[in-house]
Amino acid sequence: MDKPKLGVSACLLGHKVRYNGDGAEYRNLTRTWSHHLELVGVCPEVGIGMGTPRPTIRLVKRDNQVHLVNPKTGDDFTQQMIEYAQLQSDALINADICGFVFKKDSPSCGLERVRVYTEGQPQARRNGTGLFALVFTTLHPHIPVIEEGRLSDPLQAEHFLARVEFFSLWLNEGKMGWSADRLMRFHNTNKLFLLSRSPSAKRDLGRLLARAFDNGDHPENVALEYMTAAQKSLDVLTKPGPIAHAMERVLGRVSSKLTRTERQEMLDVIHEYRRGLLPRSAPLTLLRHLVRRCGMENETHSRFISPTPLSLGLMAKV
Ligand code: SF4
Repeated sequence: MDKPKLGVSACLLGHKVRYNGDGAEYRNLTRTWSHHLELVGVCPEVGIGMGTPRPTIRLVKRDNQVHLVNPKTGDDFTQQMIEYAQLQSDALINADICGFVFKKDSPSCGLERVRVYTEGQPQARRNGTGLFALVFTTLHPHIPVIEEGRLSDPLQAEHFLARVEFFSLWLNEGKMGWSADRLMRFHNTNKLFLLSRSPSAKRDLGRLLARAFDNGDHPENVALEYMTAAQKSLDVLTKPGPIAHAMERVLGRVSSKLTRTERQEMLDVIHEYRRGLLPRSAPLTLLRHLVRRCGMENETHSRFISPTPLSLGLMAKV
């Protein structure tokens, strides 16, 4: 299988596209994640022809609308950026990207807490979204997105990557065309993963599928609705409790093939993970071993036990 593609603000890849002619390389992406993902750089400000270096621009609220302007000259780039963002977002979807990492604080790329100035006032409020990011996330809410600042937290990085891998599987599965059966199979394969990340998602998504097929909706539309709802549920960071609960479920399925001592040892390790005394990799490694030894390996178990590439080492840090 090809590497999943990840859209990235181009400056984070070290491209010298910032207003001052510098890059802002995020080495975790370029040196580690790039082994597993194909990184696709996009610089919206260069994309609208601003060049490098260039004057700084900012978000300014005027007549209750937010504009992207050069504060020194008053030049307004709002319409240009909206048109570029619409075209580029569609191009990225057609190129099969499975997620996007945005540069924080940027009036074009920032996802959250971007400075918004009110015309005529020196102070800004940190409550905006960069214009390119806003158009992209509005048009394509089924794509997982994050700012690079959050990736320095292993919990957030692992969870985001798991969402990207989940999306990539959905994309590959859908290449053969969605049918009701294929969607149900995809949901069943991922149900333990979903249960561990967002306990209500498995049930809610199952209901969404049942309702849509009862209504006779087209499977392609249902698939998009499914992924949009799934990614919305997965937007909330997972906690150890639901993950430990999913581990216990897997253990329940192999229990009859284990001795009482083996079962108790596994339960103890899960419990220690739940209490924060062991990293997630400890019970998952044991579980993987037990599942394999008992001949109970299947896609549902692997989706839950190995949702992200092990070699990234994230599981040992969460
Ligand atoms: S933050 Fe976005 S617009 Fe600014 S330099 Fe980076 S990629 Fe370009």
